[in-house]
Amino acid sequence: MGGPVNQDRLWHTIEELAAITDAASPYTRRSFTDLHVAGRAWLREQFIEAGLVPSLDAAANLTGHVDGTGSGLGAIAVGSHCDTVPAGGRFDGIAGVLSGLEVARTLRENGVKLRHGFQVVDFLSEEPSVYGMSCVGSRALAGVLSAEHLAFQEPGGETLAQAINRMGGDAAKLTGPLRDPGEIAAYVEVHIEQGPVLESRKIPAGIVTAIVGISRTNIYFTGQADHSGNTPMSMRRDALLGAAKLVVLADELARALNTDEDYFVGTVGQLNVEPNASNIVPGWVSMCLEYRSNSTPARKSYIEAVTAHGKRIAEELGLKISFEAVSDADPAICDDAVRGAIRDACEKLQYEHLDMPSGAGHDAMHVARTAPMGMIFIPCLEGRSHCADEWVSSEDLAAGANVLYETVRALDARI
Ligand SMILES: [Zn+2]
Repeated sequence: MGGPVNQDRLWHTIEELAAITDAASPYTRRSFTDLHVAGRAWLREQFIEAGLVPSLDAAANLTGHVDGTGSGLGAIAVGSHCDTVPAGGRFDGIAGVLSGLEVARTLRENGVKLRHGFQVVDFLSEEPSVYGMSCVGSRALAGVLSAEHLAFQEPGGETLAQAINRMGGDAAKLTGPLRDPGEIAAYVEVHIEQGPVLESRKIPAGIVTAIVGISRTNIYFTGQADHSGNTPMSMRRDALLGAAKLVVLADELARALNTDEDYFVGTVGQLNVEPNASNIVPGWVSMCLEYRSNSTPARKSYIEAVTAHGKRIAEELGLKISFEAVSDADPAICDDAVRGAIRDACEKLQYEHLDMPSGAGHDAMHVARTAPMGMIFIPCLEGRSHCADEWVSSEDLAAGANVLYETVRALDARI
């Protein structure tokens, strides 16, 4: 697959950043650590070499910027994050920042002057850190990092506000959005898919339609713990049996909500059984039901159906059931104009492409509160991510950067 960016140079950049890792646990560069600081110092140098002016905002998001030729136009921003999970990969987040860097290099090399300013952003702490929260920098950009968040403490006692200041930010200023409306004309994030669809279908580019909304509900079944030998089957109140029946139904209901337009996944990934002994009928169970969809009505109808079935199952088995909504985040819809520019970029490059939702959260979902947003997914080996084996071929990585380059140019001409 040909295209404007320099595949070997981009790959070399990935290898250079990957070398800044905890040697005992590749590829680890946790937010707020010395390695993270070293990685950013390296990135800052790369920005300067590419003709981008580096700066840190109040949330310590690291941005490389070049002005455009037009006046009164917002900037076209691209990026993602360079922090990693423990023993994570070389591409999650990094692919977005470094393909943005490669686009900046290629624009300059080709003498292309954009009308809009162009920015590459490395958002602070996209992965959950010692502070337990994700997307710190992009939340702050959108003005939704609260005083409560800033007061979170790591076990050593440092607050998130202090950590942001240590990284070069100014947490006292995080009282509203960090960019004025229109300051970012559009934001485009390249990211590895972290799922198996693109690779299995041999498609180089996914055009993200929406980042799903995510809800979590705790469900509690209360029965009665009794001797497993002397309690006849007809006289039991088995809390785990109720939970098991509801797990099966929650799966069936989630499968049924998938349509051509709507993506839906529902998962019970956590179950606690009391007393959890081989010779006792389970007396109490808690389960966490997580469900994700681009459709808010689908999420609503799902939990209504699960609730109704749960109550029926509990009644049939002589159990008590209760529900506790833990969290509920709405989907972020990708902007039509940005999606159109990505599609046209793929067609110009003659790359096959696929419209698809993102089942995982990304910085883009917070940026969407302040700017039109779109995402480009690239395939990764067996859909694996958040592990040292995470892998993207050099060709696929360059293809993603090529799509980003042509998307930026198309947006620059249109918006
Ligand atoms: Zn990521």
